[in-house]
Amino acid sequence: MTLPTSASAALFERARSVTPGGVNSPVRAFNAVGGTPRFIRSAQGAWLTDADGNRYVDLICSWGPMLLGHAHPEVLAEVNAAVLRGTSYGTPTEPEVELAEEIVRRTTAEKVRFVSSGTEATMSAIRLARGFTGRDVVVKFAGNYHGHVDALLASAGSGLATFAVPGTPGVPASATDLTLVLPYNDRAAVTAAFAEHGPRIAALIVEAVPGNMGIVPPEPGFHAFLAETCRAAGALFVLDEVMTGFRATAQGGWGLTGAVEGWTPDLVTFGKVMGGGFPAAAFGGRADVMSHLSPEGNVYQAGTLSGNPIATTAGLATLRRATDEVYAHLDAAATTISDAASAALTAAGVPHRVQSAGTMFSIFFRDGEVKNFADASAQDEKAYAAFFHAMLEQGVYLPPSAYEVWFVSAAHDDEAVAHVLAALPKAAQAAAAV
Ligand code: PMP
Repeated sequence: MTLPTSASAALFERARSVTPGGVNSPVRAFNAVGGTPRFIRSAQGAWLTDADGNRYVDLICSWGPMLLGHAHPEVLAEVNAAVLRGTSYGTPTEPEVELAEEIVRRTTAEKVRFVSSGTEATMSAIRLARGFTGRDVVVKFAGNYHGHVDALLASAGSGLATFAVPGTPGVPASATDLTLVLPYNDRAAVTAAFAEHGPRIAALIVEAVPGNMGIVPPEPGFHAFLAETCRAAGALFVLDEVMTGFRATAQGGWGLTGAVEGWTPDLVTFGKVMGGGFPAAAFGGRADVMSHLSPEGNVYQAGTLSGNPIATTAGLATLRRATDEVYAHLDAAATTISDAASAALTAAGVPHRVQSAGTMFSIFFRDGEVKNFADASAQDEKAYAAFFHAMLEQGVYLPPSAYEVWFVSAAHDDEAVAHVLAALPKAAQAAAAV
């Protein structure tokens, strides 16, 4: 039995004639796994319904934001009430203050500035770090994604401490020749880069727990080492919590590292969950650094829809319901699903490796520990594609790429989890047959 897909296929055809590749963000297309992306018409709780009426348990959760599940009735009620008061004024509003207070209360940030996407958050944090330090060089790690910021769409240069080259056409060499790209979890590479370029380094940026090459946790103490290396060099340590913030744990990815090891980042970026499914993101951090932003300071940064009242209302409604019970539920659902997936893959003889960070996990289709991007790249993408399609066919929507986190929500109840578990053995066999 194959699911009907004619309505999605027809929409995809129309989409391709007016939008490059038919999608507004590349990974939504099924380029990595083949086939036609499903056009989703509605979502409720843990479930998506596509244009043909097929239902799927959602393990993408909008790539992280939908912490409470889709169309949460209380969040929707607050959003609906906010919409009726008007959708954007271009003036300061109370929900912005409330959301900022909530974020400051929950995180290491002393002050925050709102933007509309994670990309804007990291771009602005880098600009602020450069303005604050009066330096230009930025350090990042291979396989860490920080949005499509020119300076951060960079690939490693020819040597460890040599400057990067553009990671995509369209980024001028002048945008990446102040960026250093290092292998993740590699202290020697960090030491070498700071030894050679330390006085020129404005900032080092790292995902709080890297999730954009699949989950690759920092080795114990690695981020403490980064924080100390930055401090000693007078560079700012920027922690990217766009994916992990309010998601990996109640304290984000930092809850697994800095909270235990006793360090705080100078700047931090947020997105996804804090917008409750609307376009809202933020960067924040030390008050003395943030005070360099205009209009208080002279580092320019702005946005017509920044702090939008609907987005901040949705974010606040979400964060206020993100209780310890919610994180405990996410933990349990993630553990049940990842354990069962691993058992099914083992039974079918498919090499794999589960890695997790709090409530977030991913499955690499290879054996052995994955410590960096080179390790993550050495997986069997064809086996994943077969697994993905067999899950989809059974009503489970996984990320259409082997390099992504599987996200659960508070709405992933026993029924939804059981539906995922029931689909796993057949999908594992499909992966084994590749
Ligand atoms: N940083 C991280 C860690 C991310 O995961 C993402 C998006 N996946 C971004 C930044 C960019 O966010 P956005 O897509 O909202 O621009």
